[in-house]
Amino acid sequence: PKIAVLRERAEGETRVAATPETVKKLIALGARVAVETGAGAGATLADTAYAEAGAEIGEAGAVVAGADIVLGVQGPDPALLTGAAPGAWVVAAHDPFGARARLDGYGAAGLEALAMEFMPRITRAQSMDILSSQSNLAGYKAVLEAANAYGRAFPMMMTAAGTVAAARVFVMGVGVAGLQAIATARRLGAQVSATDVRAATREQIQSLGAKPIFVEQVAGIEGEGTGGYAGEMSPEYQAAQAELVSGHIAKQDVVITTALIPGRPAPRLVSDAQVASMRAGSVIVDLAVEQGGNVEGAVAGEVVVRHGVSIIGYPALARRLPADASALFSRNLFNFLSAFWDKEAGRPVLPDGDEIGDAIRLTRGGRVVHPRLVS
Ligand code: NAD
Repeated sequence: PKIAVLRERAEGETRVAATPETVKKLIALGARVAVETGAGAGATLADTAYAEAGAEIGEAGAVVAGADIVLGVQGPDPALLTGAAPGAWVVAAHDPFGARARLDGYGAAGLEALAMEFMPRITRAQSMDILSSQSNLAGYKAVLEAANAYGRAFPMMMTAAGTVAAARVFVMGVGVAGLQAIATARRLGAQVSATDVRAATREQIQSLGAKPIFVEQVAGIEGEGTGGYAGEMSPEYQAAQAELVSGHIAKQDVVITTALIPGRPAPRLVSDAQVASMRAGSVIVDLAVEQGGNVEGAVAGEVVVRHGVSIIGYPALARRLPADASALFSRNLFNFLSAFWDKEAGRPVLPDGDEIGDAIRLTRGGRVVHPRLVS
């Protein structure tokens, strides 16, 4: 089969969906790989490196012409894909709830869009999970961005001129990004605490040397949603959480929020009044800013200063580590394609009824088919 890798066109996107390493591996499986000129530039991957790996380099039209599989970080504009083979796969993070018109476009063009962010959380799919790979990097980078914007040091320092206190860092939402944020802040010497609605995270927080901050006294609280994700919390729980957090947040120097609920707007965890309670010069990083934000006043793509507190709302922080983010994203895509590679067909095949295929297939046979998108 022919696999096409396009240059990402979205504003601020630095990543690329294949690296020379994965190009080489795809060719070893029997694929032909075409890469658009400049596709890897944002991740410091030169066209010559792709060519050395065996890729054909060309303009978008030539790259897509006759392609059976198109790889993207974000979903490419369907208008770019008119030359692709009938029924071609478009494998990317499609933002299924946000980019509906684009999905309809893939459907109308007879393309099969596969959403990598819908990968089920099963052992078999762990190596294909872009949410995990990118969240890990985002959690790390969030702490570095906070440290950079914070006018004080993270570690305690005892100097001849006096002692510098350790920064107090509070991580809200302890999934993949939150755990990495805790570990990174600890490595920098901060005093770290963290909270989540899922009880299982308490031990994980402790094992990283941070202090768990948990709502205890609400009867019948249920933090666990489905598939290892969080659910939406009851009003009673939210009120108890807000009270607990209010007391705690006023004493924090840095807050990193990462809380997400799949298919729903991000839960609001920090109010403007809570921001105001923090000391001037404190820093908040809202990793959920693109899903509506955990922090009141956070703006995607901006650093907003409220009550002397900087609220950082950089979208998709993994983009600020373009080389690693591309390397991991590309391996996730490769692991997916190679796991389904059918030697006889000489290409990957997603059998009907396969848990992974059913979870990620958005369009087929001319229309949107995913159960979460058709009502
Ligand atoms: P996520 O990005 O969906 O959410 C981030 C965190 O925010 C979660 O821990 C969630 O519980 C928390 N959260 C949601 N609402 C909150 C609220 N109101 N207050 C505080 N916290 C709130 O989560 P994630 O990073 O994708 O990870 C979720 C879980 O799935 C983790 O346990 C992770 O280890 C697991 N996981 C499993 C696999 C796999 O088995 N293949 C892959 C990835 C992640």
